[in-house]
Amino acid sequence: MTNKLSSAGKHVVVVGAGYAGLRAALQLDPQVRVTLIDPADHFTERVRLHETAAGRPDVTHPLRTLLQSTNVTHLRARVTLIDTGSARVHTEVGHTLDYHRLVYALGSRTAGLDVTGTSPERAYTAESAAELYKRLLDGSGALTVVGGGLTGIELATELAESHPGWKVHLATGGEIAPSVSAKGRSHIRSVLIDRGVRIEEGRHVGNPDDVDTDVVVWSASMVPNTELAVAAGLSTDNRHQIRVDSALRSLSHPEVYVAGDAAAVETPSSGPIRMACATALPLGAHAANSLVRDLRGQEPKPFRFSYQGQCMSLGRHDGLIQLVGKDDSPRDRIVTGKPAALIKEQVVRGTVRTIRMDARHPRASRLIPGAN
Ligand SMILES: Cc1cc2nc3c(=O)[nH]c(=O)nc-3n(C[C@H](O)[C@H](O)[C@H](O)COP(=O)(O)OP(=O)(O)OC[C@H]3O[C@@H](n4cnc5c(N)ncnc54)[C@H](O)[C@@H]3O)c2cc1C
Repeated sequence: MTNKLSSAGKHVVVVGAGYAGLRAALQLDPQVRVTLIDPADHFTERVRLHETAAGRPDVTHPLRTLLQSTNVTHLRARVTLIDTGSARVHTEVGHTLDYHRLVYALGSRTAGLDVTGTSPERAYTAESAAELYKRLLDGSGALTVVGGGLTGIELATELAESHPGWKVHLATGGEIAPSVSAKGRSHIRSVLIDRGVRIEEGRHVGNPDDVDTDVVVWSASMVPNTELAVAAGLSTDNRHQIRVDSALRSLSHPEVYVAGDAAAVETPSSGPIRMACATALPLGAHAANSLVRDLRGQEPKPFRFSYQGQCMSLGRHDGLIQLVGKDDSPRDRIVTGKPAALIKEQVVRGTVRTIRMDARHPRASRLIPGAN
């Protein structure tokens, strides 16, 4: 009872309603008063943005619906300043909100796209998938995906399958899919070739004008959205992620918790945590859990995580499930073809199911293995 009273009435501001922020907000409710700030009125399944570029159905979910059975208040605005000195958040439209604790979950974006001098109808990223879809409907020609990581490959296969009038080229600095096994890579290569994608490995592309093509889809790497954290004085590492302790508290500002792609997290079994939806969900839940324990005067528990697999779609009818060790290193075992496509689809649906479950039964969802 005493514990409940010490967190009740406290105000927690969660910035960012992606996988990590939304999950943290839902797990915090109703133990504290929660305001969730995000400029969008919907949650975007970012892991499906390549499907948006292919013209597949909407990948967003209204926050109003997701939050309807909760006490979480959604403030539709962009955060422009975090004043850690006065524990206050400012938005671009003039709101100021005081907080007892803050959860920073602003995610990441595609990095390294220099569009200076490039026509806006020529260069796209996953974030501009809807515009890319419109552009691809408007004719046919040559399309180059820059970046041979999992996201670039998902984009290339999906676009080749859905827009057969376009000649798709995948250019990457090293070899494709460096994170998967040789067997996995060989499967990816055969699917790309089968879909008519020209693979160019060992090709460094500095900016969109370096490639002779009609449309460039830039997917070189991701960078965390931590500019507001840096401006607020939070300590970051050399990858620009916010340095946190094992409870996910900022090392420099312990009243700020960090979850998702913005956090620099490492665990003894997994090593460094990669930016992924698969990690953002458990990080969001753990940040909420630590924060409530902290407000109740209890010591937060360390974040624990072990990898199990990397899942990727290769168009709608093929995929790759790469089984990995606890530290994300690829093992020999893979699943391919239609079974892999089905598993990947179920994994992606599972993320939204977890969020819905959090909204209705936050305690029950804490019992799902791997969800926390
Ligand atoms: C095409 C694609 C495919 C992917 N596939 C996979 C996959 O198969 N598996 C996997 O594990 N990962 C995948 N990822 C990576 C995954 O999407 C991210 O790692 C994940 O979205 C990170 O979650 P997050 O909550 O940290 O941030 P995000 O999901 O990026 O959410 C951040 C939120 O912050 C909000 N925000 C940003 N700035 C502000 C501001 N100033 N004020 C208020 N709100 C703000 C945004 O609107 C957004 O809602 C993929 C990514 C892409 C682009």
